[in-house]
This record gives sequence, structure tokens and C-alpha cells, in this order.
Amino acid sequence: MTTKSLAQQVEALEMRQKDNWPLACSNYAALDNAQVRDLPLGESLVVLEYNPERRRSAEAPVDAAALAARPCFLCRSGQPAEQEMVEWGSGRYKIQVNPYPIFPRHLTISATEHVAQSLYDPRRVGDMFALARELQDYVIFYNGPRCGASAPHHFHYQAGMKGIMPLCDEVMNELAWPDENRIEGNDEGFIAYSQRFGRFLFMIKSEQQVQAELYFARLQVAMMMSSGQMDEPMQNLLCWVADGEYYLVVVPRRKHRPDCYGRGEGKMLLSPASTEMGGLWVIAVKEDYDRLTAPVLQKLYDELCIDNATAVSIIDNYFKAKSL
Ligand SMILES: [Zn+2]
Repeated sequence: MTTKSLAQQVEALEMRQKDNWPLACSNYAALDNAQVRDLPLGESLVVLEYNPERRRSAEAPVDAAALAARPCFLCRSGQPAEQEMVEWGSGRYKIQVNPYPIFPRHLTISATEHVAQSLYDPRRVGDMFALARELQDYVIFYNGPRCGASAPHHFHYQAGMKGIMPLCDEVMNELAWPDENRIEGNDEGFIAYSQRFGRFLFMIKSEQQVQAELYFARLQVAMMMSSGQMDEPMQNLLCWVADGEYYLVVVPRRKHRPDCYGRGEGKMLLSPASTEMGGLWVIAVKEDYDRLTAPVLQKLYDELCIDNATAVSIIDNYFKAKSL
């Protein structure tokens, strides 16, 4: 008997679910016809995707009372019978097809147990790298509990097919990471920062998972020191493996939903998370999709991401964290 790789098991799961789960079948078919348009933003590209199925997620209340009142859709008991899974990580995670896709291939990878969305346990980011290594057709992403996670009470990552979020291709250009932007590194990898993509971000690139994990741990400490709070920093993470190297983009956030969040005059129903930080803006309302322009998007990134003073503070604190 041959053992199938995780990638093969997942591909089989996706084919099966699009065949035998009507909800997934119709939502993936609808995504094929989704309207998209490109907006150049300085050196970066942003893609707008009009996706009315995401309205539920964009409008979802994220306060504690609302969360407690609805059944957990990541717990097996709260899921439809048709929703299948592939187990991973010695049974610690279940990989499932996301029935409300943003990507032509879109997975949810959730902890088997109902435990909070948190990277406090360093194994979580290690699991993210390991998943990226096993599922190399995907970018694995993580929304912090205060930065877009729709189930902040149940630990999960998502995985979206590569080639859809423009930032993930843009940051692979070595020219984006000149020596003066590198905070720490050696022949095997580095951590660096960049402001050239219209939002401040850190990137870790390494041939070695252990080095990438070390840099990430230092960055987390630095971000906590700068925020003055010991709980998880506000952030979105994008992680993938290409040509034998690990990539992790960390976008620190200062706000989840913008001031213009809502419906009506001057309002937009935007709930930006990792995919938006990756340059794919998912828009649930047609009027919002039609009226978004590059200057408005730039203002949104400026409002949601950190300012220069915070960036400088995090970099300073990184060196303190390194000497701990
Ligand atoms: Zn749950």
C-alpha cells in the first residue's frame, strides 16, 4: 500500500467536497465568476474581488457576547454532516475545505480542540511552517484574534492557493530587501522590514525552520514590548515555502476595522485581515467594490497598519529581545 502525501490527500478532499457538498460546490462555482479588478498602489498591486458570499463574515459581530451566543463552526459538533476533513499533526489539527471561498482553492486548518486563537505556544508557528512545507501549492495565513479571525475562540489557520495574493510574489524579489533593511541574518536567512509596499511589514526568509522560528520569537517579544501589552500583538501572518526556503510575512496592525466600517453614506463594509494585507481585498458590497480607488486603499493601509514611530520602536526592541 502506498501512503499518500498530505498534498495528495488534500487535493482528493477538495475534489470530493466540490462533488458531494452542494454548498461548497455552488460557492466555488460562483467564485469562478467573481468580478475582479487590479489597482496599482505604488510598487505594489492590489486586487479587488467582489464576493457577496463574504458578507456574512464582513458583518459578523466579533464581540465576546456575540461569539458566545453562536455555535462554533470550527468544532465538529457545529459543522454540517457533509463537511469532511483530513487529519494532520498527529491528530492535533483537521484540514477542511472552506465552504465560503476567497481563493479557487481555500482550506481551513483548525485545532482539533476548541482552544483560543493564540500564538503563545511556540509550536503554533512551527506548525505553520510545517504545513507550508507540506502544502507548497498554498500560502498559509493566520489572522490574530483581534485582526480578522472570524473564530477567535477556536484556533485556526487558513490556506489559499498561491498566485492570488500579489504581495506574496512581490516580496520574493531580492531587490526589496537591501542590506540596510535587514535587521539580522546570515548565509541561511534573514529578517528585514519594508515600507515599499504601501504598508509596513517584516519578512523572515530562511532555509532553516529553526532560524525562522527564532527570528519570529524575537519579533513577537519586540512587538509586545512596543505595544506595552503582554498579550498577542495585533498582526496578520502569511507563510509559504518556495524553492526550499521558508517565507513569513508579518504585518503588524493597529486597528482591525477602519473608521469607515459600516453601511450607508461614506461607509464601507470592509473587515480587512491577512488576505487584504497580502493585497487581495475581498469586497462584499458592489457599491464599495465600484468606488474603491488607490488613494482610498492607501489611506486604509495607513489607518490599519503601524506608523513610522511604532516601526522604529519595534526594530529597537528587536535588538533588546535578541540580547535577552
Ligand atoms: Zn470550536
